[in-house]
Amino acid sequence: MVLKGMMTRPSGSHRDQLVMAAIALTNLLAPGYSNGVRFTPPADPAETVSTANAVCEHFYRKQVPFTEDEAERLLGLAGRLHELLLDLADDDLPTAVPKINALLAEFPAQLHLSSTPPWSLHYQDHSASAVEGWQVGCGAALASWVSSGATQYISRCAAVRCDRVFFDDTRSGTRRFCSPRCQNRDKVRAYRLRQAIANANAN
Ligand SMILES: [Zn+2]
Repeated sequence: MVLKGMMTRPSGSHRDQLVMAAIALTNLLAPGYSNGVRFTPPADPAETVSTANAVCEHFYRKQVPFTEDEAERLLGLAGRLHELLLDLADDDLPTAVPKINALLAEFPAQLHLSSTPPWSLHYQDHSASAVEGWQVGCGAALASWVSSGATQYISRCAAVRCDRVFFDDTRSGTRRFCSPRCQNRDKVRAYRLRQAIANANAN
């Protein structure tokens, strides 16, 4: 286990913004559980694309917009990134690394520096489709996080019936839940459990 205080903290670079975008994309578009209920991605391609565009524009204002004919591939990418982020949250690098390499192998990277400040390393140019660009960008950013040990900052929600992922930037690395709602659900569950045990002991 690597102590977080000994690692370079994610700095808000383009690379780190790509990882944040990957986390946000998966939490909004990957199937699983969220806040105690089954989570299914939008069935409407227009909604899928508008959700992804809003997320990606938040993290990268020059992003090439996703188009509706990319919706299915976009959901596929979100699902793959979610599985990968869960592996990283579980510190299961032998499982995660081949998945990152598969993301990178499917499309060629176009490494280049931005042409104006702030100088940042980019992984695709704008000739690629949005899905290809984000696949290569997120794959490369996560590869860089693995090589620098920064994946220790990726965690999964500890609440039951929730598999959402989050960035834990607390110094102690003790954040456990994706949201206040899951934290409250867990408190209620723990309280009920204690009550049930107390009641059982009293009988
Ligand atoms: Zn949660």
